[in-house]
Amino acid sequence: MFVDHSRIFVSAGGGGNGCMSFRREKFVPKGGPDGGDGGKGGSVILRADPNLSTLAPFRFNRLFHAKRGQHGMGSNCHGKNSPDRVVSVPPGTAIYDDAGLEVLADLKFPGDEFVAAHGGRGGRGNAQFATSTNQAPRRADKGSDGEERWLNIELKLLADVGLVGFPNAGKSTLISRISDAHPKIAAYPFTTLTPHLGHVVVDESFSFVVADIPGLIEGAAQGAGLGIQFLRHIERTRLLLHLVDVSPMADAEADPITRMEIIAKELAAAPGDLTGKPQMVLATKIDTLGPREERENPTAAPSGDDPITVLRRHCESKGLPFAVISAATGEGVRELIQTVGRRLREMALEKLETTVTVENR
Ligand code: GDP
Ligand code: MG
Repeated sequence: MFVDHSRIFVSAGGGGNGCMSFRREKFVPKGGPDGGDGGKGGSVILRADPNLSTLAPFRFNRLFHAKRGQHGMGSNCHGKNSPDRVVSVPPGTAIYDDAGLEVLADLKFPGDEFVAAHGGRGGRGNAQFATSTNQAPRRADKGSDGEERWLNIELKLLADVGLVGFPNAGKSTLISRISDAHPKIAAYPFTTLTPHLGHVVVDESFSFVVADIPGLIEGAAQGAGLGIQFLRHIERTRLLLHLVDVSPMADAEADPITRMEIIAKELAAAPGDLTGKPQMVLATKIDTLGPREERENPTAAPSGDDPITVLRRHCESKGLPFAVISAATGEGVRELIQTVGRRLREMALEKLETTVTVENR
């Protein structure tokens, strides 16, 4: 598991001051008190937003202020309340006090909110203090201060995408190829066995986490202590990338299709429902089959029995999306990140829609 964290400062707006004022009108002596109340200061609210998936935006932007309420005015005018400042955080963000000890809130689901700093109350104007014995009060309250404090926010990242495939299929190489661009996040050593995880940035607002699932399966099989953390990754995984080595160096005893089916059997036997997950098949190490022109030139493999074509047909017959990549040269990798990013985003939206429909019932 990765832990992404940041420390932020939230400061709510103070309340507006109450006003001290007396009515003044021509030919009306001794007008009564008419000072209005101050407006309420804005609060700072943290809200889980499904469009975010990292705390990266908080690396540069850490101070969040809400505006103060407007002061009260004469003629019984109430000062305007200041709007709240809403700060979006990714779902799954936990909020701790400054010492990092107490969990103040856990914004698990889209829409969850936490008032991080309450706005100050507006002060009462002198019109409020008029009584039968004191008809000309010279008292108006000041608005109270808004709260302010430092907070620690933390996002635990669980794997969205699982990589499966034979040993040597190129899983580790792919993870390091697509995910080394995020040095701020440290691997979280929760056991002696650190799962192979990578954080992949699609664009500034969206990223996902990939994990080497066979590693997870081995870990889960190894014992009770490890199992739960690993299973959480597996449960959370929404897409499996099945890597199939199509290079000439791949296991000579089994052709790509046989190897693919062996892994499919393993998935069925693994803990967690892996067979039910959407899958995409990747033919890997395609650089070993020569340059693109040769691979795609029909005269080079007139019978159409080159490993890529064979595997592609097999996947088509099973309705599985298929792509070719080389983690070594980077061919197809950028397209892969975009495709995976798009599918995960679509799935997140679908999930959100179903939740909303269920709630509306
Ligand atoms: P894993 O066991 O699935 O994690 O596989 P690795 O990522 O460790 O890769 C196994 C071997 O294949 C290593 O020697 C890699 O250098 C090599 N390899 C991985 N991807 C590619 C690729 O795209 N092209 C080539 N030519 N070799 C690769
Ligand atoms: Mg590996």
